[in-house]
Amino acid sequence: LKGFFNVPEPVNETVLNYGPRSVERAALKAALAEGRAKQIDIPMYIGSKEVRTGTLREIRPPHDHQHVLATYHWGDKTHVTDAIDAALAAKADWENLPWEQRAAIFLKAAELIAGPYRAKINAATMLGQSKNAYQAEIDAACEFIDFLRFNVQYMTEIYQQQPPVSGKGIWNRVEQRPLEGFVFALTPFNFTAIAGNLPASAAMMGNVVVWKPADTQIYAANVIMQIFKEAGVPDGVINLIYADGPVVGDVVFNHPDFAGIHFTGSTGVFQNIWGTIAGNIHKYKTYPRIVGETGGKDFVLAHPSANPDVVAVALLRGAFEYQGQKCSAASRAYIPASLWPAVKEHVTREMATFKMGPTEDFENFINAVISEVSFDKLAKYIDEANADESVELIAGGGHDKTKGWFIEPTVLKVEDPYYVTMCTELFGPVLTVYVYEDKDWDEILTIVDKTSIYALTGAIISQDRYAIAEATYRLRNAAGNFYVNDKPTGAVVGQQPFGGARGSGTNDKAGSMINLLRWVSPRTIKETF
Ligand code: GLU
Repeated sequence: LKGFFNVPEPVNETVLNYGPRSVERAALKAALAEGRAKQIDIPMYIGSKEVRTGTLREIRPPHDHQHVLATYHWGDKTHVTDAIDAALAAKADWENLPWEQRAAIFLKAAELIAGPYRAKINAATMLGQSKNAYQAEIDAACEFIDFLRFNVQYMTEIYQQQPPVSGKGIWNRVEQRPLEGFVFALTPFNFTAIAGNLPASAAMMGNVVVWKPADTQIYAANVIMQIFKEAGVPDGVINLIYADGPVVGDVVFNHPDFAGIHFTGSTGVFQNIWGTIAGNIHKYKTYPRIVGETGGKDFVLAHPSANPDVVAVALLRGAFEYQGQKCSAASRAYIPASLWPAVKEHVTREMATFKMGPTEDFENFINAVISEVSFDKLAKYIDEANADESVELIAGGGHDKTKGWFIEPTVLKVEDPYYVTMCTELFGPVLTVYVYEDKDWDEILTIVDKTSIYALTGAIISQDRYAIAEATYRLRNAAGNFYVNDKPTGAVVGQQPFGGARGSGTNDKAGSMINLLRWVSPRTIKETF
C-alpha cells in the first residue's frame, strides 16, 4: 500500500547448537577466554557521558567467586538526577524522529546481536550470570533478537492502525504519543533479553528511559548498552545507572516527570514500588504507567492418564534449566500415585547424569546460582526440609560454596500440599512434589488453584481430553501462560506472549502489542471544515 511501511517480516532467530567442532563454539570460547583474561572497567552511561565515580564495585562469576571479571562505578542521588535530566533533554528530538527511523535503529541492534555481538553477549551472560551456552543462546541472543524484531513489527501495526471513521466535513484521526515524561526500567538478573527489552520497548515507542539493571547483571548490561549505541540509539535516550535501589527510587518516584515503570523482579519490590507511586500520585503530571512481571511458583499437574516420560521431562527441564532461576520454572508438582514410581525412576536416573560446574566447561548442565544471598536462602530451605520427618529427599540436597554458589538440583516429596516449599518462591533448583491419590483429581484441581498465589505459568500433562479441558477451565486464573503436555518454561516471542496475573504482575505480555501499547498515550484529533 502506498504510504505504508512494511518492516522485514519477523522470524524467530534460529538457536545455534554449539556442537564441539562448530564455528559458533570456537567464537564463543574465544569470547569467554577474552572475558576471563581482561578485567574491564564499566562506567555508567548518562547522556553523552561515560561516568566514572571512582566508587568501585566488583563483578565476579557466580561459579568462581574468587575471580574478578570487572569493576563498575557506583552512583548516588546526583547520578539519578543527571540521568533523568539527560533523558528529558533528549526527549524532543527523539519523539519527533519519524517512527520508522526508530524502528531502523532497533532492527540494526537485532542484526548486531545476531552477528558481530553474538559471542560477546552470550559470553558475558555465561560469565556474569552463570548460564550455560544453550541457556545464554536462547536468552541473550535469540530472545533478545526476537523481542527487537517482533516489537518493531507490532510498533508498525500500532502506528499504521485503521484510522477512526470520518464523515462529511469531518476528519478524525488518532495519534500515538510517547508518554509525557521519562520511563524508568528496572531489570532483573535472570534474562539478558529482558534486561535489554524493558528499556528498548519503551524507547522504541518514542520514550526516553532511565535504566537500572540488577547489580548481578551489570556485566552483560554493559554489552547491551554498547550494542544500543552502535545501533544508533542517540545519547540520552537510554541512560544506564547503578546505585542503591531505595536511593534511585527516592529520586525517580518523587519526580514530576515520572511517566511509567517497566519492571521485572520480585513481587515484594513491585508491591512496594506500587505503594510509593500511589503515595506520590499528586506529584506527577500524568498517571504513570505501571508495568511489571514479578514472581512465580509454577506448577506441573499430571493427570493419571499422563505419559510418565512426558511428565519427567517437563519436570527436569522446567525445574532445573538455568538452576531454576526463571520466573516460569516448575517448582511444584502434583503427581498421581499410580504414576509416581515411573516418574520418580525417570527423574532420578536422569538427575544422576547431571554435571555441575563452571559455564566455561560445555559439559556442565548445572551452573551456580546467582549470589551468596540466594545460595544461603536455598541452602536453608533445603536443610530445613531435610531435617523435617514429613519430607522425603528424592534427589540432591547438597550445596557447596567453596568455589562458587553451587546448589545441587534437589527434589523433595512432601505429605502436605501446603508445605512451605510448595507455596514459597525459592528461585533455585528445588522441586517439591506432592503425590495425590488418583481418585482425588477433583480435589487436587482445587488445591492447585488455591495455592496459586502467583499465577505466572503452569502445565497440565494428560492424554485425556476431558481432563485437559477441565484443568484448562478450573485453573484459568492460576497461570497467565498455560502449557498442555509441555514444560512451563521457554515462552518464545511471537509465539507465546508471556506474563501472569495475581501475584505475578500486570500481565502486559512481554513481546506483544499489548505491552507496546502501554508506552504510548493516544490523542484523538477531530477537525471540522
Ligand atoms: N519468559 C521466560 C520463560 O518463558 C521466563 C522469564 C522470567 O523468568 O522472567 O521461561
